[in-house]
Amino acid sequence: MDFEPVIQTFEQMEQTSSRLALTDHLVTLLKKTPADMIGKVTYLIQGKLYPDYEGVEMGLAERMALRAIAISSGRSMAEIEAVYRETGDIGDTAGKVMVSKSQSTLFSEPMTVERVYSTFEKIAKTVGPGSQEMKLRLAASLLNDSTASEGRYIMKFVMGTLRLGIADYTVLDALALAFTGDKANRQALENAYNVSSDLGTVARLLATKGLAAVQSVQITLFKPVRPMLAERVSTAKEAMERMGDKAAVEYKLDGERVQIHKGKSRVELFSRRLEKITDHYPDVTKAAMSLACKEAIMEGEVVAINPQTEEYLPFQELMHRRRKHGIEEAMENYPVVINLFDILYLDGKSLTDLPYEDRRKLLAKTVKGKNGMVKIMPQATAAKPAEIDRFMASAIENGCEGVMVKMPSSTYRAGAREYLWVKLKREYRTELADTLDLVITGALHGRGRRVGKYGALLLAAYDPKEDVFRSVSKVGTGFTDEHLDQFYRELEKHVIHKKHARVDAGMEMDVWFEPVMVIEIIASEITLSPSHTAAKNAIREGFGLALRFPKFTGKIRDDKEAESATTTDEIATLYRRQLKVHSGAKADK
Ligand code: AMP
Repeated sequence: MDFEPVIQTFEQMEQTSSRLALTDHLVTLLKKTPADMIGKVTYLIQGKLYPDYEGVEMGLAERMALRAIAISSGRSMAEIEAVYRETGDIGDTAGKVMVSKSQSTLFSEPMTVERVYSTFEKIAKTVGPGSQEMKLRLAASLLNDSTASEGRYIMKFVMGTLRLGIADYTVLDALALAFTGDKANRQALENAYNVSSDLGTVARLLATKGLAAVQSVQITLFKPVRPMLAERVSTAKEAMERMGDKAAVEYKLDGERVQIHKGKSRVELFSRRLEKITDHYPDVTKAAMSLACKEAIMEGEVVAINPQTEEYLPFQELMHRRRKHGIEEAMENYPVVINLFDILYLDGKSLTDLPYEDRRKLLAKTVKGKNGMVKIMPQATAAKPAEIDRFMASAIENGCEGVMVKMPSSTYRAGAREYLWVKLKREYRTELADTLDLVITGALHGRGRRVGKYGALLLAAYDPKEDVFRSVSKVGTGFTDEHLDQFYRELEKHVIHKKHARVDAGMEMDVWFEPVMVIEIIASEITLSPSHTAAKNAIREGFGLALRFPKFTGKIRDDKEAESATTTDEIATLYRRQLKVHSGAKADK
């Protein structure tokens, strides 16, 4: 197939901004394209060689690209660089300098899509030492035989700057029109795209085998499924109304969504944007390998944790895992867990047509037993808004962003954002500027690197009215090894065999202490808590207050006796001030 009609279409598309006109241009091009080339042309239109999940990049350095243009145009690097400074785009640079290229140097045969595509493939696949030089030669050889406008698009494509402004949906419309004559068939194409994430294959099937073949596209292991998304609601009441009489309420963790594809001998991980991210999480990959199934596709949220307390950590901590090098070290320093919330495929069968509650049961079976870091997303069922609110409070206290509320009867709708899943996020986010001085009342034994020391401490605020210390937080971060040794030595003197009579706490601890030692803590905010007892009922009936993302500042307040610690009233005041700051900020908007 000649490259010329493709280029012409690209040029026309660059000049239109109406979506209808874009679609028309595409339809014309697709109709001209031989059936066996439809897949490749579809990828080229999207500026790709393969579907995104293959993660293939051209990898030609900018300087090398400029050199390729210099070589094929017979101009000096200085001249090319000057044009590049002016245009700001390597493709436009090629287009500009090649215009003056003498026609006599042009190959007599026209450039073909086959040649362009296979040269692009070679450029992408050339890796290792000397590969830049090789890529440069390949690009230059194409340019040598191209016209100026071909050269312009070739270099835009190679450098990833081909922006035709067409969404996947426009391509789907164009395919439906070109091959079935009816835009209504786009839905069938979209469904196939949603489960395969591969527009080129959908297009090729349609052109070579027809609509029925597209309709029978199934979920396939190692091809990512476009994720089901959630609509936003702002109150538990609205969430409940959307769900009907029953809702599944889950933690909404603030991490990275990961789709696990587990085969018999290999696991791949895909991001929400369908990129392959297996290399970021070798630990999750290994843990997934030991799940109780031969093949499965599951979804979950990876989140950084404090291994001592298993508390979830803020999203920023997880970002340390997004790297190409030093993964081993990052794994050690930033441990993660994955909380699975869905299963789409199991041992040869697609599960997407099953109701959510049935998929969760199959997920629980698959994840049963000990899988280390692979866990199931905490979930509760709710029939009333108050039940959602309650679960939300414990989710937020535990470091979540809010909750996801899901309709138990809903099927998995790949790629769809509907009210079958809704997200309810906490209303405000404020930095708690003040530090708090809190009393250590209990501890959990350390694990891993902290064996023989304390892993986390239970902290309390003082309630002077009743002369009691009421729990407000567990803290496991901010400690150096020296601190850990010091705490162990000093607290040993105060160990008691059960919870102290003046300590009010609803949770189980490995060790209890006399309430004597005071430490300084910072936190991101104060939240309503169904589990901690500080300021219980002061703000809302049945709830105490707790710290979100607490951290030891490094300061032991030897200068303070326990009764001088931050009081529960002060914490309630800080909570109210936070609300005021927030509503003030809202009013300002
Ligand atoms: P948002 O990014 O705010 O639209 O929220 C949707 C995202 O929340 C998903 O893509 C997941 O990454 C994440 N998430 C966290 N917990 C859950 C959960 N229990 N179910 C589904 N998605 C979740």
